[in-house]
Amino acid sequence: MSKKIYLDNAATTPVDKKVFEAMKPYFSDKFGNASSIHSFGRVASEAVEKARGQVADFFGAQTNEIIFTSGATESNNWALKGMTKKYQAENNKIPHIITTAFEHSCILESCKALEKNKKAEVTYLPVYKDGVVKIENIKKAIKPNTLLISIMYVNNEIGTVQPIAEIGKLIKKINQKREVKKLNKIIFHTDATQAINYFDCKVDKLGVDLLSMSAHKIYGPKGVGVLYIRKGTPIVRKQDGGAQEFGLRAGTLNTPGIVGLGKAIEQVKSRKSKVKSMTLLRDYLIKRVLKEIPDAHLNGSKIKRSPNNANFSFPRVEGESLLMMLDAEGVLGSTGSACSSGELKPSHVLLALGLKPEEAHSSLRLTLGKDTTKKDIDYTVSAIKKVIKKLRGISGNVLKDYYLNHK
Ligand code: PMP
Repeated sequence: MSKKIYLDNAATTPVDKKVFEAMKPYFSDKFGNASSIHSFGRVASEAVEKARGQVADFFGAQTNEIIFTSGATESNNWALKGMTKKYQAENNKIPHIITTAFEHSCILESCKALEKNKKAEVTYLPVYKDGVVKIENIKKAIKPNTLLISIMYVNNEIGTVQPIAEIGKLIKKINQKREVKKLNKIIFHTDATQAINYFDCKVDKLGVDLLSMSAHKIYGPKGVGVLYIRKGTPIVRKQDGGAQEFGLRAGTLNTPGIVGLGKAIEQVKSRKSKVKSMTLLRDYLIKRVLKEIPDAHLNGSKIKRSPNNANFSFPRVEGESLLMMLDAEGVLGSTGSACSSGELKPSHVLLALGLKPEEAHSSLRLTLGKDTTKKDIDYTVSAIKKVIKKLRGISGNVLKDYYLNHK
């Protein structure tokens, strides 16, 4: 088959045609530096400010609370490290951060770096089998020096949705009590990278002070994102240099990227009516796979789940082989185990759900996109059936040995 069925939309999405058209002039004709005061510069800065308005509108924020970054990795690093640095400078003690065990690696690695350098102490909350954090556990974990609670909105691997608005309400209540006790305000951060397409992201409804996102997950360009910073949030500037981004993040602005991000986030609204049909398509995929493939199971909650995400484990099948053979059949997905330095590393997300390493090694993530059709899903299910039959046929003993050697 020549057409490829792309079911890896949680990894990245193609740039939408309207987004691309909006970006094009800012590469060449309108190439000015948004910081220049001449007319070319003004054309660029007007485009940047229009995009900032589009983003602010989407989040129900003020324009000076929207800071453009290179993507969610930068935004997440900045949120954690920038808050910690400010707290230490002002309080001369180590702050406490609460997060979950299944955040994106840019949150977890930032936390580990802060712990290693004795800049913060971190609590990693469990997420259990359904992949959803428990509010009581957050309450229990709070300490006098808790500075930041960072919880992702939608998990990138298993698509489970966290109760961000409820957590926001809890933190607000706790902060009222802390004010009386003259304790610092707890800041609430969410990595909303995988949520923008499908969920309400109004910052006041969520009760968040910081929010991260990347444009390329919403049919925008790669290498551009946002950190929303609520006014008054104590954070140090990202990097030194020029006075761009309200003096918080120096560096010449990526005008075409920012214009693309603005257009992409504006387009999200126009797809709201299609979320229901995507959810039905996802459920159709899940139902068929669970019914037609022996021993298949779904990872994470079936209900509290992003409309585009299905994540399965297929016992006695090795994920990377499955992925490669599906690619040959024209289906592109992803797996929870990645080969790094010759070793198969099981996904920390699947392990956090309580899966055994061999179960994590046998996973397949399929993430639908705005143009995925029922025909694509029908083809995908038949391709998975064919490949798994083949893999289980050849692999019975080979995989048993493999797992025994990797325990
Ligand atoms: N957070 C989440 C939840 C993500 O899915 C991703 C991208 N996989 C990131 C952060 C990092 O985004 P980027 O690579 O665009 O910086």
